[in-house]
Amino acid sequence: MVSRVIPVDDFDLVIFGGTGDLARRKILPGLYRRFCAGQMPETARVIGAARSDHSTEEFRQMVGDAIREFSKKNECEEEGIGAFLDRLDYVQVDARGEGGWDDLKAKMRDDVIKAYYFSVAPSLFGDLAERLMSHRIADPDARIVVEKPFGRDLESARKLNADLARHFAETQIYRIDHYLGKETVQNLMAVRFGNILFEPLWNSQYVDHIQITVAETVGVGGRGEYYDRAGAMRDMVQNHLMQLLCLIAMEPPSRFNPDAVRDEKLKVIRALEPVDHHHIVRGQYEAKGEEPSFREDVGDPRSRTESFVAMRVMISNWRWAGTPFFLRTGKKLRARTSEIAVVFKDAPHSIFGEEAGRHANVLSIRLQPNEGITLKVTIKEPGPGGMRLIDVPLDMSFAEALGEEAEEITDAYERLIMDVIRGNQTLFMRGDEVEAAWAWTDPIIQGWELRSDVPKTYDAYSSGPEDAAMMLHREGRRWREIR
Ligand code: NAP
Repeated sequence: MVSRVIPVDDFDLVIFGGTGDLARRKILPGLYRRFCAGQMPETARVIGAARSDHSTEEFRQMVGDAIREFSKKNECEEEGIGAFLDRLDYVQVDARGEGGWDDLKAKMRDDVIKAYYFSVAPSLFGDLAERLMSHRIADPDARIVVEKPFGRDLESARKLNADLARHFAETQIYRIDHYLGKETVQNLMAVRFGNILFEPLWNSQYVDHIQITVAETVGVGGRGEYYDRAGAMRDMVQNHLMQLLCLIAMEPPSRFNPDAVRDEKLKVIRALEPVDHHHIVRGQYEAKGEEPSFREDVGDPRSRTESFVAMRVMISNWRWAGTPFFLRTGKKLRARTSEIAVVFKDAPHSIFGEEAGRHANVLSIRLQPNEGITLKVTIKEPGPGGMRLIDVPLDMSFAEALGEEAEEITDAYERLIMDVIRGNQTLFMRGDEVEAAWAWTDPIIQGWELRSDVPKTYDAYSSGPEDAAMMLHREGRRWREIR
């Protein structure tokens, strides 16, 4: 099966923070892959912009090294890297100063799409937006792309939205949540709304509960200072897990277009019930052998920040009343895995008797690793000796089903950047969605602060604190294994 690559229109993409970690690890290698796939027009250009003084040659050298280090494979060989680097330019600008902006303006072409990726600290978003306008660099069709974290609470998110809205229309603002760019996340929508099979069962009458797990094996790494101020709730739940929850729970949009999809997601967030603190478990990993504890990692022996959170969330609407959604995310867990599991109810009556046991269907959507979708169904165990039932997976592993094409599964960042150039906002968060998510998250975090809540400890590389397992056990349910 050969994948179709539809080239995008000609563009100038400016990456503010073009020398930073995210640009080197994700954005620039992603663009290089799109270049190799033939999606970048011949004349499209990428301009790195940052505070330090570099020549274009030095910038190209840095990007070449980053591509060799962070690209999954050598997409189009050394020759291709050279051809991609020829598209790059560099300009020194200070987001907070006036120097360099006229140079940037001089480099921008008329009559092509212009996109500005703000891969810098959020405290600079407002400054960049203002200077792009005051120096008349951005035209009314220009797009800006902003990175997480989009605020640390409702108030700061509102301020960021207001700072951007002073200069750009909502249709020009692309708030990235790279989880939305993952192939399987979009496949979740294809499976839900492209098949008649699932949607009639997609409600509290047939679904017992839904689990969303995003487990990491890494600790806080070099981001200790940031993470200690954020914690798992702000860093993961408010954005990534919330977005997954929305896509799994939303009503079918009337069309697959940006506002139709985002309207439905917003309705889910607004229907979330406040979470009682008995239905949340916070955790912090402990030292293991030579491996430091969370508190050592963040350099604060008294830190009360959570590196793990598990919670039971309810949605107040006709479709989901009574069906719990269990969300779980954490660092230094047993395995790196992201999965959504829809656990269906048992059949209403077993004609095979008690001894055949309970066999619930489970639809699991794996985001990583091994992206794919599995439906667990019950069949007869082969062989003589009566009717014994076993569960087997109906498996759609993308790697097996799609062969070579799966090899080419585009990374979330490259897909999303191409969507920016196409002007398609479907997979980006709208300002009101982000604010609604904070409005739901804030009281939970404030509750912890008021109670001086201390997270439960858990062994590094385990499944998290025992209390998280107990939370489900109390109601006769269990978490899926992290593996
Ligand atoms: P970083 O490695 O610290 O890089 C920051 C970049 O911003 C550098 O290129 C820096 O250039 C530039 N910069 C700083 N101050 C500037 C100014 N006043 N004017 C112009 N440029 C300036 O940060 P990062 O990790 O790439 O993160 C960038 C953004 O992405 C942040 O909002 C972060 O939260 C978000 N993000 C990062 C990751 C990740 O994995 N790294 C993941 C998700 C989201 P100089 O060095 O020349 O100052």
